[in-house]
Amino acid sequence: MNIILLGPPGAGKGTQARKLVDERGMVQLSTGDMLRAARTSGTDMGKKVAAVMDAGNLVTDEIVIGLIREQLESDNAPGGYIFDGFPRTLAQADALGNLLVEMGESLDHVIEMQVDDEALVARITARSTCGSCGEVYNDNTKPIPADEKCTNCGANDFQRRADDNEESLRTRLMAYYKQTSPLVGYYYAKGDLQSVDGLASMDEVAASINKALA
Ligand code: AMP
Repeated sequence: MNIILLGPPGAGKGTQARKLVDERGMVQLSTGDMLRAARTSGTDMGKKVAAVMDAGNLVTDEIVIGLIREQLESDNAPGGYIFDGFPRTLAQADALGNLLVEMGESLDHVIEMQVDDEALVARITARSTCGSCGEVYNDNTKPIPADEKCTNCGANDFQRRADDNEESLRTRLMAYYKQTSPLVGYYYAKGDLQSVDGLASMDEVAASINKALA
């Protein structure tokens, strides 16, 4: 089963993708994580995209489609793929459809995570992540433990993303509404779209997603 988690920044796509990985043995393909890894390892591509990402703009279709193609060609995912943060444009959606056909795979579900903009701003500006395992924390709802050890892996490597500030977030939201939100209509018209309330608790959202995938 291959699925897309669709929604604005801060909707909880990464958090829910991690749950699906743990519970169903699926493989998470996050273009945001791939691009951050390219930056950290200092590849030419990583250097090229750094400023674009920090400002909150989308990197080119060519780059992200190339990254996804590489992963699909090298990975083996009997439990299926979760596309997290990809596709983000209509061109990316078409490219993903073609790649899956080439591989004899199908796209089984597109889950739209609906959240309101104020909640997104509150979530993102309070967000930090474990640099070691990716566990997500929130200053208000899930603060970093007093012993400063990640509850999931025990590491002490909490990080705030460079683009998790109000100015970049505004640009990221604008990019979402201008370039990504048309995908809601695109997948609805294809008959693939299901929507869940992304503002419910993490476990309730997970339950809605499991119901949609059943
Ligand atoms: P994310 O972690 O999904 O919020 O992505 C962080 C940043 O990486 C975005 O703000 C974009 O600059 C870039 N990015 C991630 N995925 C894509 C994509 N599918 N298309 C274009 N840019 C992307």
